[in-house]
Amino acid sequence: MVDIECIVSESHRLLKEYFGYDAFRPLQEEIVRHVMQGNDSLVLMPTGGGKSLCFQIPSLMLPGVTVVVSPLISLMKDQVDGLNANGIAAAFLNSTLSEEEEVYIMQQCRMGKISLLYVSPERITRSFEKIFGMLNVSLLAVDEAHCISSWGHDFRPEYQQLKWIKHTFPKLPIIALTATADKTTRSDIVTQLGLHNERTFLASFNRPNLSLEVRVGVGAKDKDREIIDYIRSRPNDSGIIYCMSRKSCEKLSSKLNAKGLQTNYYHAGLSAKQRENVQDDFINDRTPVICATVAFGMGIDKSNVRWVIHYNLPKNVEGYYQEIGRAGRDGLASDTFLYFNLGDIITLRKFAEESGQMALNLEKLTQMQAFAESDICRRKILLSYFGEYLEKDCGNCDVCKNPPKKFDGTIIAQKALSAVMRTKQSASSQLVVDILRGSEKREVLEMGYHRLKTYGKGRDVSEDDWKQYLRQMMHFGLLEVAYDRNNALIATELARKVLFEDQKVSLVKLVAAEIRKQRFKVTYTKEQAQKSQPWNQLFEHLRKWRVEMARAKGIPPYLVFNDATLREIAVSRPESTLDLLSISGVGKVKFDAYGEEILEEISRFKQSQKKASSTYQLTFDLYQKGYDVNMIAQMRGMNVMTVYSHLAFLFQQGYPIDPFRYIDKKDVQDVLSAVQNTGEKLQTKPLYDFLRGEVDYYRIRLSLAYLSKEGKI
Ligand code: ADP
Ligand code: ZN
Repeated sequence: MVDIECIVSESHRLLKEYFGYDAFRPLQEEIVRHVMQGNDSLVLMPTGGGKSLCFQIPSLMLPGVTVVVSPLISLMKDQVDGLNANGIAAAFLNSTLSEEEEVYIMQQCRMGKISLLYVSPERITRSFEKIFGMLNVSLLAVDEAHCISSWGHDFRPEYQQLKWIKHTFPKLPIIALTATADKTTRSDIVTQLGLHNERTFLASFNRPNLSLEVRVGVGAKDKDREIIDYIRSRPNDSGIIYCMSRKSCEKLSSKLNAKGLQTNYYHAGLSAKQRENVQDDFINDRTPVICATVAFGMGIDKSNVRWVIHYNLPKNVEGYYQEIGRAGRDGLASDTFLYFNLGDIITLRKFAEESGQMALNLEKLTQMQAFAESDICRRKILLSYFGEYLEKDCGNCDVCKNPPKKFDGTIIAQKALSAVMRTKQSASSQLVVDILRGSEKREVLEMGYHRLKTYGKGRDVSEDDWKQYLRQMMHFGLLEVAYDRNNALIATELARKVLFEDQKVSLVKLVAAEIRKQRFKVTYTKEQAQKSQPWNQLFEHLRKWRVEMARAKGIPPYLVFNDATLREIAVSRPESTLDLLSISGVGKVKFDAYGEEILEEISRFKQSQKKASSTYQLTFDLYQKGYDVNMIAQMRGMNVMTVYSHLAFLFQQGYPIDPFRYIDKKDVQDVLSAVQNTGEKLQTKPLYDFLRGEVDYYRIRLSLAYLSKEGKI
């Protein structure tokens, strides 16, 4: 009988010593306890939920070796590197190793020098005898366990061999882990692995740190512009843009690069070597942005992906959830955006129809579309797919942030429905809008639609708004699209009630496109404002330090310290070793490796800040005494431009400085248009060039400060 008290306190100690964490996340402790008592378990947790600790902590307490089956070779190396960085003895066996390396690792395992051995499923099959016969295996962890089931979305035949393990070693405890929660797959995993008296641990799939936003009906050009602005607003952050096709990945990436952004693309059409390079550059913070098909991300454990954008509607909710789940694994706030246009549906329907599993895939697409079009809390809908029900609205999705207002839209709906009926349900939504707006397009005239009674009856509503109303009507079940008949609009039974039985329709009030755009900007510039906070400057400083450390050690930066830990350090500015050790994510080994250096780095940063703030202060004192800029420059022995920069900085910090002593409204206008045209808002040179040298550098600097303070850039 194992002493439970003892397990619990020991597991807490190990959590702090090796991982630097103070507390378990929900379920982790229970799972560890269950595993330590020799039981089987099935763990369902979302990506980033913290599955790994559930077998890593037991592996440190159990006598022999814990074998971890993991399907992705690239991930294996990453995980082992991460464990080693925390001082945990781990190794892997897969096809990338030479024979000597393998022999060496087996030897280490036999000598009890390795706690965790990661193995690919193929290798388990091939070296079954060697691993289970010669090693003292005390626990088997099966990661991505859904791969064993042909019901799951990622079936791998190699996984089926794992069945034999329980047959041969009925006493060996197994822990199966997955982020896929559907019930069929769940019970299939239990059967196939032969789990016995297992307990299922189902964690919440809610990821509150991910913001959810669906951007409906944004035209192609605006979409690119929004994305460019967004990336520019967070130059150091990593993000992924999921595109529908290989070609669109390449096109988008080169478009973004042409705007001076640093991106690359990734899809299955690249060679294995190319893919590895792209992935490597991303993981190591060398390329911050990747335009990719859904092939990207499976093998990536990067914890500091700060945002994910879907350039088009995804095929199904499972995929969408998994893809956005790649953001914010470290638990810090991260953004997700999904762009959705009706054209996406038409393309995706074609894919689904040609997929061989038409009915199933069309149904999944319909659910995806319903999510994108809904006007109730997005997280509520999303979680309901996983059988989870949120009691309250989440407050962190676009619907919660801008709740829709309804109005009586019966007349609008009647106009649209009558146009649909009068075209004998043969017109596409574009054509219906053209008719309502009284367009003189050839198609309209040729069909004689200009003679319809409804022709031109909707001139007072803009084309974009009509499209949105039609979409709402589809969502409310008044209209359907006949995808097999050139996407013609069809009126449903319910529509007849609206037309002939006086049934009321309430529609969601549309917000002008301009305002919608503005709102979008406001949401993400709020965070930008945070960036000028003092802790953020230290964070950026430490981030650079981290890159250097990582280079020297040949590991990805987030394995030095992840973003959450680095941020906590930046916020609390530890001064002593004791302060540093109390920070979540600073374990013993990392403390020994980086502790002193990071403390030094922090004190260096403080020094430089002190110096900087005193030099600004001197300039400000002279300004206040009424000296002009030339005089200040002379007195301080610096050049005039530096003094202007100081004034600009001081003004932005809220010091009472009047920039209009040196610039006028026209300067501000010129600089604003230069910023809008070049996208540059920090460096003066590109703006100076754009303005053909007609506005002096110092005027540009001050105008930028003014525009930024006013929130105009
Ligand atoms: P999963 O395998 O479920 O996708 P991971 O095991 O990789 O997730 O964990 C995701 C992140 O959360 C990792 O950076 C991990 O170190 C961190 N983490 C896990 N458990 C805890 C905890 N108890 N406290 C703080 N961070 C944790
Ligand atoms: Zn919400």
